[in-house]
Amino acid sequence: MAAHFALLIDPAASDDACDDFAATFTVLDPAAPALSVSELSTQRGDGIFESIGVVDGHPQEVAAHLERLAHSAALCDLPAPHLGQWRQAIGRAAAACGAGESVIKLILSRGVEHGPAPTAWVTAATAADNSAVRERGIRVVTLDRGIDSGAADRAPWLLLGAKTLSYAVNMAAIREAHRRGADDAVFVSSDGILLEAPTASLILKKDGRFVTPAAGSGILHGTTQISLFEHLAQLGHSTAYETLPVEALMRADAAWLVSSVRLAAPISAVDGVELSADSALTASINDYLLSPRD
Ligand code: PLP
Repeated sequence: MAAHFALLIDPAASDDACDDFAATFTVLDPAAPALSVSELSTQRGDGIFESIGVVDGHPQEVAAHLERLAHSAALCDLPAPHLGQWRQAIGRAAAACGAGESVIKLILSRGVEHGPAPTAWVTAATAADNSAVRERGIRVVTLDRGIDSGAADRAPWLLLGAKTLSYAVNMAAIREAHRRGADDAVFVSSDGILLEAPTASLILKKDGRFVTPAAGSGILHGTTQISLFEHLAQLGHSTAYETLPVEALMRADAAWLVSSVRLAAPISAVDGVELSADSALTASINDYLLSPRD
């Protein structure tokens, strides 16, 4: 959905002692052009972002999203974000969200070519209605990511653990999944290890335990997965990060793609083979994910 709120941020140095950043914010007309044509985010996808789920005006897991924004900035050699400034900008965007589900996006770009500073902005928009996907589930296909599970360590310049704006490959994978008659994709390393979906983390239930691919293998560490694992552990369930061969998905008792806005979408089929779903468990997971979380 189109943004209904946009705020341009004049990024503060990460050690700025100021505690009120109102003067660094400019409210934009979200329908009007706002970026320079020399913006490196649009020319090269050179920047990072976060998508934060908002439920009835409450932004979810802000600390985890800010932590990942700072991690992505460090991986991309972007100036460290001032987390207090971003938190205030998120507060302004959340105040512009009404009842129901919304999404706040944080964008930190390398800036304008030859310009002096990064560009930063925040938007708010009404979220798409994901209720059908959460109940009915999604059919996925496994797709080769073309890199082995050691690539993240061997080639850090691939920025595999950063949430960069370069999502053209992720979007192409979803289109390929549609061409193959599925709704979404699950990336697999060239040596057969489960990774993540183009816009979500993968969680499997197997032998009564909840497992997710280890974050070191070049995937994004999902805020939704972290939050859900904490919740499941509090309920007494066993959770673990594991190196999972692709066959583990086909043999799982249940599996989900989880992310900040779609929340938990149960996987109903993998490469055309039906997977059993646990509707009651999925509903309780989504109830938790829709509750206010900090
Ligand atoms: N992995 C990728 C590649 C993503 O793009 C996303 C979210 O957009 C996730 C995982 C899930 O992250 P989160 O739960 O923080 O939304």
